[in-house]
Amino acid sequence: MTALVLDGNLIREQIYGELAHEIAELRAAGIRPGLAAVLAGDNPASHVYVKSKIAACEKLGLGSWQVTPPATVSTAELLKVVRELNERDEVDGILVQLPLPAQVDAKTVLEAVAPAKDVDGFHPLNLGHLVSGRPTLVACTPLGVMEILRRSGTTVEGANAVVLGRSDIVGKPMALLLMHANATVTICHSKTRDLPPVVRRADIVVAALGRTAMVAADWIRPGATVIDVGINRVTDPAEAARLFANFPARLDQFHRKGSALVGDVHPDAVEVAGAITPVPGGVGPLTIAMLMSNTVRAARLRRGSQSPAQRNTSAASVAPTSR
Ligand code: NAP
Repeated sequence: MTALVLDGNLIREQIYGELAHEIAELRAAGIRPGLAAVLAGDNPASHVYVKSKIAACEKLGLGSWQVTPPATVSTAELLKVVRELNERDEVDGILVQLPLPAQVDAKTVLEAVAPAKDVDGFHPLNLGHLVSGRPTLVACTPLGVMEILRRSGTTVEGANAVVLGRSDIVGKPMALLLMHANATVTICHSKTRDLPPVVRRADIVVAALGRTAMVAADWIRPGATVIDVGINRVTDPAEAARLFANFPARLDQFHRKGSALVGDVHPDAVEVAGAITPVPGGVGPLTIAMLMSNTVRAARLRRGSQSPAQRNTSAASVAPTSR
């Protein structure tokens, strides 16, 4: 059996199509949602990420601004930057790109972002709203996973879902979203005993460990839906040969490029799962799409404006997964 591959690029384009309509409607009403990115220092990966986020804003017609303090910036200076952005009415979303330089108190800076503009969903107030199931701004990656599940027709209600990882930005909000969608959720972490049988009970597995191909194919229950959040770069030819033993085309590509991206789930799981997200091209594309979606949502929430989906339902939704 070969799993249905859940194409994140395709889902991202669907979401962009829907957002384009919503943004056009807002702009006709004189509202141009806008995102400000704070990029401190010279981390090359951070520069790439912020560039993609700004490019997505431009593609969709959202306003965008970049503030680029030097790597020597202090906590106090960054707090000033964030507070100025909090005050600017045309800024609906503020994104502080992580990691921040070592001398900066990242938690203090993130907590200074106005909750109404916290499009990354990291502020404790927004996390509290998520815990209590109120509409709020939710972390983009878990939100993207819920979109993949919803748009692929995966049954979440009543399903046994196993979330591997309990980070504040992926594992914890992921588990909460699945619980609010009526899954029975098990959260695993580095102290979980005997992981494979726990994972084998899952109808839905979400792997967010940061451990290359740790989830072996025989941990997956045949037919389960597997969402692989992990992004790990493999550069060792011997490791690539082991991982891609059954995927000659991927091994060839590795040899041509000298590296490959692999998730937290072993590539062989595609032969066991019912549906699976690829790496790359699965969850990754959804993260930026949901940042765009959160920026539009923040613009609406700040102005008390309803989305088309909200107008079509008479009762207010408590599920933070629906826009
Ligand atoms: P993280 O903060 O490092 O958290 C990793 C989690 O995995 C922790 O809860 C840790 O447990 C658990 N863990 C680590 N080793 C384990 C083991 N051997 N057995 C069981 N649990 C283990 O990572 P993260 O920020 O959540 O990210 C996870 C992965 O997702 C990374 O590969 C990252 O690159 C990727 N990611 C992708 C996107 C995307 O857009 N696709 C976005 C964000 C993250 P403890 O809590 O006990 O330490």
